[in-house]
Amino acid sequence: MAEQIRYVLEGKPEPGETREVAPGVHWLRMPLPFQLDHINLWLLEDGDGWTIVDTGINRDEVKAAWEIIFARHFADRPVNRVIVTHFHPDHVGLAGWLTERFGVELWMPLGEWAFGRMLKLDDGAAGLEDFRRFYRAAGFDDVLLEKVDERKRAYPRRISPIPGAFRRIAEGDVIPIGGRGWRVMVGTGHSPEHGCLYCPEIGVLISGDQVLPRISPNISVWPQEPEANPLRLYLDSLPKFQRLPADTVVLPSHDQPFTGLHPRLEQLAHHHDARLADTAAACARPCTGIDILKHLFKRELDSHQLFFAIGESLAHLHFLMGEGYIGRTRTADGVDLFRQAAPEGAEM
Ligand SMILES: [Zn+2]
Repeated sequence: MAEQIRYVLEGKPEPGETREVAPGVHWLRMPLPFQLDHINLWLLEDGDGWTIVDTGINRDEVKAAWEIIFARHFADRPVNRVIVTHFHPDHVGLAGWLTERFGVELWMPLGEWAFGRMLKLDDGAAGLEDFRRFYRAAGFDDVLLEKVDERKRAYPRRISPIPGAFRRIAEGDVIPIGGRGWRVMVGTGHSPEHGCLYCPEIGVLISGDQVLPRISPNISVWPQEPEANPLRLYLDSLPKFQRLPADTVVLPSHDQPFTGLHPRLEQLAHHHDARLADTAAACARPCTGIDILKHLFKRELDSHQLFFAIGESLAHLHFLMGEGYIGRTRTADGVDLFRQAAPEGAEM
């Protein structure tokens, strides 16, 4: 039984290096230009070739690290396919570059492929007013609103073009890779249809961003779906992972491979419970999304983190609204105010 969260290896691979973490499963680490400064990718031995899982963000230093991998590992072992867990740029960023270079297919959940491809093709001006309205409603002032245009333009730059044709992976599919079956488990809340891969034979879960060992996965409301309740979706998707064996080795996209899936899932649920309680208490008085952000995130946030933090604040507000604990009204200026719902019969 793995009752504690424990990293399974000492140290970590440098960019361009690989480490075998389970039979036929190799760990790569690529740089990211954010405070969260790396992503883990996986190379699976696949007969006489490789299956790549996730790809890194579209930047020269990541391509350079891939070139070292190509030279060291791909000379006599070709790439058979690229699997991508979800549309975020650190995961899908170089999928088009890799599939084109090796002439292979991209395997991805439909919702992730479609969402990423849509955002890549979005020309920047279309939908900008939807973004502004959304962030104004969340309580952004004029200074903060100036960051919105840049935010909308960031995604297309961070990824290479996503192929126009792909192979769909969906919940319950079993993908044969290197003589072993990898079962697709779809997670929700962090992204529309996040594809995780579980191999019962070796007891390994490639969890992507759905389950991380140290930080909690970002669960955000985004401008494209302003009424979403992603925290409900996320918490509802956790029990299926709880049913995996206690000694499962989890390969997350950030930090290090670990065991202790069950206690980690409990910690993540408790983390959100505590934040929900804080959010609900703050809403004793009318609060905007920005008010809740300041309440939940005491540290200084850079521009990149600001958008994750406001999305996360709204996710907690929307969850509470969905449960009937708080209500929402919009001011004449288009700003949403959230407040504890009055007990039946009482006056607000
Ligand atoms: Zn992600």
